[in-house]
Amino acid sequence: MSEIREDPAVSLFREYLKIPTMHPDPDYSKAIDFLCKLAEDVGLDFKTIETGPKELFVIMSLVGTNASLPSLGLYSHMDVVPVFPEHWKVPPFSAEKMENGDIYARGSQDMKCVGIQYVEAIRRLKKEGKRFLRTIHVMFGPDEETGGKRGMIPFMKHPESKRLNLGFCLDEGIANPGPEFRVFYGERSCWWITVRCRGNPGHGSSFIQDSAAEKLTKILNTAMDFRAKQEQRLNSDPSLTIGDVTTLNLTIIKGGVQHNVVPAELFASFDIRIPPHVDLPEFEKELGRWCREAGDDVTLEFDQKCDSPHKVPLDSSNPWWTAFMSACQSLSMEVKTEVFPGATDSRLLRECGIPALGFSPMNHTPILLHDHNEFLNEKVFLRGIDIYYEIIPALANVSGSCHLTL
Ligand code: ZN
Repeated sequence: MSEIREDPAVSLFREYLKIPTMHPDPDYSKAIDFLCKLAEDVGLDFKTIETGPKELFVIMSLVGTNASLPSLGLYSHMDVVPVFPEHWKVPPFSAEKMENGDIYARGSQDMKCVGIQYVEAIRRLKKEGKRFLRTIHVMFGPDEETGGKRGMIPFMKHPESKRLNLGFCLDEGIANPGPEFRVFYGERSCWWITVRCRGNPGHGSSFIQDSAAEKLTKILNTAMDFRAKQEQRLNSDPSLTIGDVTTLNLTIIKGGVQHNVVPAELFASFDIRIPPHVDLPEFEKELGRWCREAGDDVTLEFDQKCDSPHKVPLDSSNPWWTAFMSACQSLSMEVKTEVFPGATDSRLLRECGIPALGFSPMNHTPILLHDHNEFLNEKVFLRGIDIYYEIIPALANVSGSCHLTL
């Protein structure tokens, strides 16, 4: 019975969830076919833009009454992270709906919900004959979950993306178990570093001086002290979230030959995430100091250095923010602004000077992105469409040139 009365938007969402766009071998072609058909069904112009051998962006567009103004981008990624099916209570691409309306599938929170919500809100607005000042582009991209090398990075360099003339974008956020809706205005920089410690080698039966292990120990102690201080800062100030502090984790240790040989070299790798308020060149100098203080021949290499110092202004200087908030207020939504703890494609948009806010309308929902048994309740999903139904017109009708410096 419940299947028969299901809202068509929910059925569509479940259909999208069933397409296995999972890494390492996402079936993009099926997702792209599905989305192109959806655009036709809603009556939106659409095109695809190639960013890799199997990777395409799908862009659905609704032309504004003043198409020369910078446009509004509504972005979501099509790909999802791998699953461990043995830990799931239903098959992860079944999109099975429980009696209470919880829909289980990989991608239900991250972030196939948002893509369908954008389109369904626009379908409703279009049916009512609404027109908007600015052109709206609903953008579906590949390869977010593996860093954007065949997705957002080439897309932002593509001449077609320049033609979209994006002025502002919405992208993904994170669920919240509480009543507030989380909005992300910046991201932490992600640094992956390896510290190489070289020292005197020798026999395992003696006290070798200036060994690589002594130097490594100093580095580890300094790094763990720093980590503890950051954790303490977070725990002692309830106004802070994880996005406001620097996290540092030791993730790889390498080196050594055999038990009775003191090695000449040892390596330690760290994952470090730095909030946008931190002076990055200054922090890099601090890491250099840690190495110098650990002894001679201790060097630092960057395996990845993604700097994301850009923040979207959250005040009256930013008309997009004012419009976004006025729509939220009209819906009596409680909004909480934060720095995103991980990395999303928003950082690449902001790098190109496009203000992007991370927002997935999921309150009263446990945080299950990348986790086993990811689900979203259909009521929360449908409420998300109502929310975009207010937010999209507010943003698409922002007047003026709205040029922001990020
Ligand atoms: Zn995501």
